[in-house]
Amino acid sequence: MKTDNGGILKAESMPVQVKTIEQFDVIFQNIGYGITVQDHKGKLIYVNKEAARMAGFSSPQKMLLVTAEDILKKFTLMDKEGKNFPLDKMPGRYAAQDKNSHEALIHYKFNKSGKEYWSVVKAVPVLKGKEIEFIINTIRDVTVDMREEERRDYFIAIASHEFKTPLANIKAFTQVLERRLKLKKYDDIYPLLARIEIKVDELVNIINEFLDMSKIRAGRLELSYEIFDFNKLLAEIIKDFQQITPAHRIIKKGEVHKLVISDKQRIRQVIVNLLSNARKYSPLTDIIVVKVSQRKNFITVCVRDFGIGIPKIYLERIFEPFFRLQRLKNERISGLGIGLYIASQIVYLLGGRMWVKSELKAGSTFCFSLPYKPKKIKKKFVDIYKF
Ligand code: ADP
Repeated sequence: MKTDNGGILKAESMPVQVKTIEQFDVIFQNIGYGITVQDHKGKLIYVNKEAARMAGFSSPQKMLLVTAEDILKKFTLMDKEGKNFPLDKMPGRYAAQDKNSHEALIHYKFNKSGKEYWSVVKAVPVLKGKEIEFIINTIRDVTVDMREEERRDYFIAIASHEFKTPLANIKAFTQVLERRLKLKKYDDIYPLLARIEIKVDELVNIINEFLDMSKIRAGRLELSYEIFDFNKLLAEIIKDFQQITPAHRIIKKGEVHKLVISDKQRIRQVIVNLLSNARKYSPLTDIIVVKVSQRKNFITVCVRDFGIGIPKIYLERIFEPFFRLQRLKNERISGLGIGLYIASQIVYLLGGRMWVKSELKAGSTFCFSLPYKPKKIKKKFVDIYKF
């Protein structure tokens, strides 16, 4: 088959170095944009791999067996504001009506799995005389950009809230303190000072999280290796944490029988983060289990709670920066959504990995594994979270 037999491949501006339909197909099948072509009746006559992937088909051939209408039925379509996207506003349909090109940003959600994506769809009609011969749709997956934007907006709202609450508390405590001092009620001031200190610590923690986050992203998180007894460290962390967590009972299981070379303080930070989350997200249950086990070259630590759990569809996003689950309004639990990102990056930099298992309303288990001693020291930040 030659390319000069009309149709889609007869583009005048193209220097004809590519000779066959098969060669064009190899190109179209492997570019990073989705391409579909519909005939004048709206029937799909060409689909590339990326378009099939975005529409949830295992191959273009499988997608071609289904009508465009049936493909659209797999999703709920929304616009940028989250409102229903009417089908007659789809760029392809618009283009079929007025014979011009149209473009739209579409937020779509698979009805079956609940997974959400974003794409920019552009439809270009190709005319034969005055009639439409076919319509070419190019589909650009912009999920990564939209999530980044969504997270940034959400983060600004959350960060302002997280700073404002302890500051408002500190201000209120200081005013009471002032009054008590005026009245010379000195005994009353100590509990107030202690509460102010707690709130100041909360602010310092938030600022430290920001600093860690920017160091990780710039590849400048310093690790300092030392040799230590892991059992001792874990026992110490649990004892300290238990003291500030009277409402939960922390149960330790397992032992490690080797000394470890790693960054003790960073490991402490990771475990404290997992314990804090286990406590925060299990307000109605009171047991947290910390289990440590050892394999040939690795230690594994798992922190299990029996709390609110995480819906399956969000599990793969849980280690993204600024990712927080939107729960019911009256269920607001404070946090910035960067603790797990930092923890998983620290573990990665120490040569290990972190993962999670969870069931909604039954609880979550966060685990990480670490080598006994580093193979080679990793310096660079890497996007280990995936979309
Ligand atoms: P933060 O707790 O500050 O929001 P994290 O990065 O530690 O941020 O956690 C990100 C999100 O993961 C939380 O907002 C929460 O929705 C979810 N999450 C983390 N740990 C748990 C847990 N143990 N149980 C249920 N959900 C959790």
